[in-house]
Amino acid sequence: MSGLGKGLLAASLTKLLSSSSFLILPIKFDGYLNIDAGTINPYKHGEVFVLDDGTETDMDLGEYERFLDQSLDSWSSLTGGKIFQRVIEKERKGDYLGQDIQFIPHVTNEIINWIREKDNNCDITLVEIGGTVGDIENAYFIEAMRQLHLKVNRSDLCWIHVTLVPVLNVVGEQKTKPTQASVKTLQGMGIQPHILLCRSEKPLKPEVREKIGMFCNISVDNVISGHDVRNKYEFPLLLIKEHLLPPLFSQLGLKPRFDQKLALWKKLVHNIENPSTLVRIGIGGKYTRLSDAYISITTALTHAGANLGILVEPVFIDTDINDNLVKAHLTKLDGLIIPGGFGSRGIEGKINLVKEARMNQKPFLGICLGLQCAIIEYARNVCNLNANSTEFDLNTPHPVIDLLPSQKSVYRKGGTMRLGSYTIKIIEGTLAQKIYQQSLIEERFRHRYEINPKYVSLLKSKGFNFSGLSLNDEIIHIGELPEHPFFLGTQFHPEFKSRFENPSKVFVEFIKACLLERGELK
Ligand code: GLN
Repeated sequence: MSGLGKGLLAASLTKLLSSSSFLILPIKFDGYLNIDAGTINPYKHGEVFVLDDGTETDMDLGEYERFLDQSLDSWSSLTGGKIFQRVIEKERKGDYLGQDIQFIPHVTNEIINWIREKDNNCDITLVEIGGTVGDIENAYFIEAMRQLHLKVNRSDLCWIHVTLVPVLNVVGEQKTKPTQASVKTLQGMGIQPHILLCRSEKPLKPEVREKIGMFCNISVDNVISGHDVRNKYEFPLLLIKEHLLPPLFSQLGLKPRFDQKLALWKKLVHNIENPSTLVRIGIGGKYTRLSDAYISITTALTHAGANLGILVEPVFIDTDINDNLVKAHLTKLDGLIIPGGFGSRGIEGKINLVKEARMNQKPFLGICLGLQCAIIEYARNVCNLNANSTEFDLNTPHPVIDLLPSQKSVYRKGGTMRLGSYTIKIIEGTLAQKIYQQSLIEERFRHRYEINPKYVSLLKSKGFNFSGLSLNDEIIHIGELPEHPFFLGTQFHPEFKSRFENPSKVFVEFIKACLLERGELK
């Protein structure tokens, strides 16, 4: 079931296994037929995450990277679309001449091949199967995994099934039937899970664990309580406490080389639970009804907060309806983020928010579209131009934001933005340099439009500073206002590289600036 916590379990397991000194590579399988998540509405699946190699993925990949503190590539993001594309390409090339192409064996073999491609690069592959047992969408994938189990040593594969144990308010009892029914469906597909991770609000009662074990044909030691935790970074620690690792290692015939080294992790979790103060950050966007749409940003704020020992609370501001409420909003907040986005809905609200932050000395971080809004705002209100981005007004007299030249002839939307990691040159003596303390950095991009070079000298002459450039000096990647406590816009997405144990420097310095403004940091 979606939202049950499979992604969190997978991310936590990658962390625990890698800190037990195993080399682990995760794969997320999504049943949809899109090639990647780049063309999906954030309201349906949450944010689109971007990897170094430019792959646009489901947000679970972001979770893996944040827990594992390791960058992944497109191999880790498998969709129904990618598998079928491979099969159909092979069919067109003539690889299967004379054969009917069928789910079994052609599609299932392709899945198995994909998963085994990196066998030699790691000790353990962790495959998270999206969706629910019994769905059509992932049935062929589960079948492929059943077949994989036949091809490897029995002890080389471990099935962990995540199930729900609800409590009915009327009787107040933990109910085991949904777990029993789900395991039965899985058994009907030829799979006996080795471990059950039972999601519940409170710890599983001993008699409930026994009942589940008995009805599901699993030793009670392998029925693990995965109850709610206060924050998601506690989940790996809960799994240790609930003894998930012994049955996992025993099934796989592995001996951990040492106990998990989690000192820093534990310290950060402690910080989240014992913050010294609270900072409230406004996030102005149009997908504010679904917080998953900005998950990398809110998590990067949590990371910065955990590392500074404070709590950062994101406050969503719907820029589509709140045009006139902007001032009232900002006075109650310590800082403002305008995150990435697409399309004209909510744009004027965002531009108004930036103006208020600029004029009232509120720390401001503009990310991609947020930087573009800051440029439009400055061009309009300081340079007196009737300015806009051609994304929102094709005929604007002053297109301060315009398509990259390479984007002008693009007509296919999928995978054609400027995507993935690029090197950025940082200019000396700027806020950007103070943040990064380096002259070359790497960050991830996902955009089509950029600051129009024709307006750069005018903007500069009016006080807008440009502090990050492409290696050939042609594209502007960072803009800032020197006469402001913290006013920074990045064309890239620093949130994509923020990790729990290794937070984004941009977010840390932004939050520090908020504390400084309140006089709580010297
Ligand atoms: N829509 C803008 C562009 O394509 C901004 C994209 C973003 O914020 N990621 O350039």
